[in-house]
Amino acid sequence: MAETVFFDEGDLVGVLTTEPLGRALDYRAPEGGCFAGAFVEVPLGPRRVLGVVWGPGEGGFDPAKIRAVTRVLDAAPMAEAMRAFLMRAADYTLTPMPAMLRLATRAPGLADPPGPRKVYRKGWQEPDRMTDARARVLEVLEDYGGAAFTLSELAGLAGVTTGVVKGLVKQGAVAEEEAPRDLPYPRLDPDLTGKDLTGDQAAAAETLRAGIAAGRYGTTLLKGVTGSGKTEVYLEAVAECLRKGRQALVLLPEIALTSEFLARVEERFGARPGEWHSGVTQTERRRLWRMAGEGGVGLVVGARSALFLPFRDLGLIVVDEEHDTSYKQEDGVLYNARDMAVLRAAMTDAQVVLASATPCLETWVNAESGKYGRIDLTARFGAAELPPMRAIDMREERLEASRWISPTLVQMVAGRIAAGEQALLFLNRRGYAPVTICRACGHQIGCHQCDARMVEHRFLKRLVCHQCGESAPMPAACPSCKAEGRLAPVGPGVERLAEEVAERFPEARVAVLSSDLFGSARALKEKIEEIAGGGADIIIGTQLVAKGHNFPLLTLVGVIDADLGLQGSDLRAAERTFQLMRQVSGRAGRAERKGEAYLQTYQPDHPVIRAILSGAEEDFWRAEAAERQAAGMPPFGRLAGIILSSPDVQQVFDFGRELARRAGPLTRIGAQVFGPAPAPVARVRGRHRVRLLVKGPKGAGLQAAVAEWVGQMRVPNNLRLAVDIDPQSFY
Ligand code: ADP
Ligand code: ZN
Repeated sequence: MAETVFFDEGDLVGVLTTEPLGRALDYRAPEGGCFAGAFVEVPLGPRRVLGVVWGPGEGGFDPAKIRAVTRVLDAAPMAEAMRAFLMRAADYTLTPMPAMLRLATRAPGLADPPGPRKVYRKGWQEPDRMTDARARVLEVLEDYGGAAFTLSELAGLAGVTTGVVKGLVKQGAVAEEEAPRDLPYPRLDPDLTGKDLTGDQAAAAETLRAGIAAGRYGTTLLKGVTGSGKTEVYLEAVAECLRKGRQALVLLPEIALTSEFLARVEERFGARPGEWHSGVTQTERRRLWRMAGEGGVGLVVGARSALFLPFRDLGLIVVDEEHDTSYKQEDGVLYNARDMAVLRAAMTDAQVVLASATPCLETWVNAESGKYGRIDLTARFGAAELPPMRAIDMREERLEASRWISPTLVQMVAGRIAAGEQALLFLNRRGYAPVTICRACGHQIGCHQCDARMVEHRFLKRLVCHQCGESAPMPAACPSCKAEGRLAPVGPGVERLAEEVAERFPEARVAVLSSDLFGSARALKEKIEEIAGGGADIIIGTQLVAKGHNFPLLTLVGVIDADLGLQGSDLRAAERTFQLMRQVSGRAGRAERKGEAYLQTYQPDHPVIRAILSGAEEDFWRAEAAERQAAGMPPFGRLAGIILSSPDVQQVFDFGRELARRAGPLTRIGAQVFGPAPAPVARVRGRHRVRLLVKGPKGAGLQAAVAEWVGQMRVPNNLRLAVDIDPQSFY
């Protein structure tokens, strides 16, 4: 894909920078000229800033005042399709272009001149004397396999001074070497033999391969229960893409980015892919960013922001667990990586594979209408089967006060432990208790800067606000009536459930999996491996366990509160509960042993609970789709959320009302405005939050209307206005 447009020295070029200026600025092409798409440094006032040559300059300014591009950076020019993608994504999400460009240039040191640098890796000697600090350095090197780090990275990861690393170098325990910067990644070999696919899997792989071979855009839903071999199948699509000499991207929810997955890629292709997520070192990020642009990496495995890497020729995007809520970025630029993947693929003649056991309704509808292809993998690989699910009717169980596990479930768990198997108790609530109440006056302890209750975390010995992260020690006396010793926990979190489990199963080994209980991703990974190896009898977990971990000994899943997600008025409450319950249940019986799942519920006749139990998935989606269609809700209608926030409650409501009054641009396309209303979380970090909701028909140009509507208002300095197109959450 050659860049055709070249600007000679002195030509006027339009440069888009990452500074919030709204549009490209005119500069003169530097000595030696530059390509369209070139990454450049340009003077802006007294500073020099990063930019991309977006096209010819506009002209019309005093030619004498136009400054020259300072220099062209040593990076492959941004491909035209990538520039087009950023513009389309900006239009879609109503994001200013500079913010879009910032997303696409999130690599440190892009402007650094390349050259050799010192890197550090595992040495060949044992140190003469082991200290804690030294052990930590060696542990980091061990953990990351053969990776090389810069001095500050290695010291930072180990939490030691650079002197400790230098000391180890002197002893030969750490090797110091000169490394050229930014080497290409090892080539993946698509022709190594993969697993022998089953008939279903082979047919699915063939369909995906044909899509890649055609070299056209297309999106396919790859639907199959956990363990049905979706990963095996889409790795075949990756292989085909690599064979064609194009690049592939596999997006995973951050939490599923485990070394287990990377090892699988290595097994299939003989080398590791490029990795892009929050745990990747700065050096490696920079290298991957550059290699994506140069074509020096074939496969990238990453979290949602990997979608904005400047791939030179992207031929395939896999979005694994496509229903996962973490694909929606909820702060800064509000975008949904799943939808943006489809947009990007459409612009580069690439294929998209959306893999899930429980696709989101939008995807299901698109497959149903023929807009997306659909492949179903119906059987689990090998002996594993999706476990039968049953309800435990909590209205008929006898529970003592402050107990949450029904006698029926206790009995089931006991049976599994006796058989040497594992049981998982699922409760999607972190901490000890969601509410702390004063028994003297009824006061509930809340966060002083949010409209949220503080959640007791006994493990941390603190109260924590799950909105803003603020924490405080548990007070001895009620903050309201000053009564001492009367504060009591109400309701269960996983820590409290662990207490009950310990009382009821004193002999059992119990493991609690909750994101806040682990200091690092590594500690969590170790715990998961320990559990998978049989290191626990009972696992207590939040939704952390719903995602992609394999516990071969696990045969029983008990959902403590299946009704939890059904409360509230969220558009997607039913869909989310359905997905989560099915996923969690899917954790049982993944290997040879048969599993089963129990849902504790007070509403066994609720349509969602019944759909989960019966396993009549298509019926569930159809009913859910019919309901949305009748209400004109997505994906049959469009929504946009407006979130206003300000320290001044009067101001934010006044602004919201004025905005609602000027709804002309919206009514012209047949859209309605609801609100302003206090947001469900009406105060966060001291800012009052107000929401408006726009609901419009499909295909009527919602974004343009919203842009015109919001554009009528001058936003005061202390007020923030965010537009959320296709909102996923409404907090
Ligand atoms: P999914 O992505 O649908 O959860 P995976 O692709 O991870 O399923 O497959 C589940 C497990 O079964 C993995 O350990 C995988 O290696 C194994 N597996 C799937 N299909 C085959 C096959 N045809 N031959 C051998 N092992 C397979
Ligand atoms: Zn708070």
